[in-house]
Amino acid sequence: MSLETLAVLSTAERSLLGAVPHQLLIDGQWVDAEGGNTFAVRDPATGQELTAVADASVTDGVRALDAAVAAQEAWAATSPRIRGEILHGAWELLQERKEDAALLMTLEMGKPLAEALDEVAYGGEFLRWFSEEAVRIHGRYGVNPEGTGRMIVTQRAVGPCYLITPWNFPLAMGTRKIAPALAAGCTAVIKPAGLTPLTTLFLAGLLQEAGLPDGVLNVVTTRATGAVSDAIIADPRLRKLSFTGSTSVGVQLLKKAANNVLRTSMELGGNAPFLVFDDADLDAAVEGALAAKFRNIGQACTAANRFLVHESVADEFGRRLTERVRTFRVGRGTEEGVTIGPLIDDKAVAKVGELVADAVSRGASLLAGGRPIDGPGSFFEPTVLGEVGTDADIFREEIFGPVVAITPFRDESDAVAKANATEYGLVSYAYTRDLARAQRLIDALDTGMMGLNVGVVSNAAAPFGGVKQSGVGREGGFEGIHEYLETKYVLIPDPFA
Ligand code: NAD
Repeated sequence: MSLETLAVLSTAERSLLGAVPHQLLIDGQWVDAEGGNTFAVRDPATGQELTAVADASVTDGVRALDAAVAAQEAWAATSPRIRGEILHGAWELLQERKEDAALLMTLEMGKPLAEALDEVAYGGEFLRWFSEEAVRIHGRYGVNPEGTGRMIVTQRAVGPCYLITPWNFPLAMGTRKIAPALAAGCTAVIKPAGLTPLTTLFLAGLLQEAGLPDGVLNVVTTRATGAVSDAIIADPRLRKLSFTGSTSVGVQLLKKAANNVLRTSMELGGNAPFLVFDDADLDAAVEGALAAKFRNIGQACTAANRFLVHESVADEFGRRLTERVRTFRVGRGTEEGVTIGPLIDDKAVAKVGELVADAVSRGASLLAGGRPIDGPGSFFEPTVLGEVGTDADIFREEIFGPVVAITPFRDESDAVAKANATEYGLVSYAYTRDLARAQRLIDALDTGMMGLNVGVVSNAAAPFGGVKQSGVGREGGFEGIHEYLETKYVLIPDPFA
């Protein structure tokens, strides 16, 4: 860390960064990476180095898996109540340290502090929810149809898991995997995104403090993502791969996981449609649109990507939305009143700029913003585009930035056809006051989740996940723990037959 960097960090930021672990967590010990290698973590609002963390080698990655394998049997045999209590203890510690967790996320990822606090609440709920689910792992018992035997069905831990998480929700994407895995009795190695490793290291420290036994959760931070992951995924002792990230990387990982027929959960990209019908409450639709689009600076897999608005209200919807967007304050997420932080890096800014330029070159009208913001940090103006054609790249690609793209539609069947015209199927949103139409849309929209007259659907108690190329499996809800459980069926002769 350079002195110049230290100068722009507040005392509280500096002491928090100093207190967070920077090493690998292997078998309950914080250790340096092989050769003492490290890599820098940067503040996307300033581009400056915050600190450095261990840069694991392939050998380090395999050592982390060794530890998870060694701890597996004892952890699966630990009573569900104790597993649940450790998760609950971590949730309590997180509540006590919520300001620190939020500040850490704002520093390494850029989201405004208020949103980071929301993520602490949301992400923390997975620890609490699965602490409660640990003691509700059920089986069944019955007589077979022939009456000759008794059938017993039990659930048991899948075994050692490899968890890979993205940078956009540094806490929630970790707890959404760690909590169900641990509740089910699985041990794990987690590899957070290299851009945002600090929150995962912080979380692992809390779990340790809550009494998690050595080796149950191991953390590997690395720049050699592909090589380290390949070695772990190819290892025959691994039983499960759970990945959240882009569809392109997910596809590569599914192919690699196939070699050992690994259990997989894939939470991948999205291209969410946001439908506004002419009978909608337009003010409510604008509120929902702001949440669905600008939460996390547009960098959410659930972010509304295509605003499909009935042609009779499209102009008015665009006008009201633009009015609100013009009031946004862009800046470093730690500053009072900032509503839009930076994008994760300059590559993201360039990509958003290209998508906007392409849409405008194909006839879209620019209602607000549209340009990168000069100066340090990776900022892009909050942007609204009207009359976006279905031939624009922005209609097909995940934007991952603060850009609203409005495309008018003629009628309900046109809206549904446009909404489903994508290989993604994570979430859809619809605003209408017509109950019959709402019910038709629930059936017609090809997505794993739907927000009906609401702009944010995420909840630890709900099964989160997509269809088509948005993924396989569900996280959260009653379903979440089953991703980490295997079903075992036993037949015994009927003693009375
Ligand atoms: P990404 O695919 O680039 O990276 C995700 C993770 O995979 C990171 O930890 C990264 O280091 C790792 N990774 C990258 N290449 C790898 C490789 N060859 N082998 C193994 N691991 C590799 O995605 P990102 O940019 O971090 O995140 C944004 C993407 O994640 C978006 O597409 C977004 O929609 C998606 N996402 C999906 C969900 C969901 O629940 N469906 C949630 C959040 C984000």
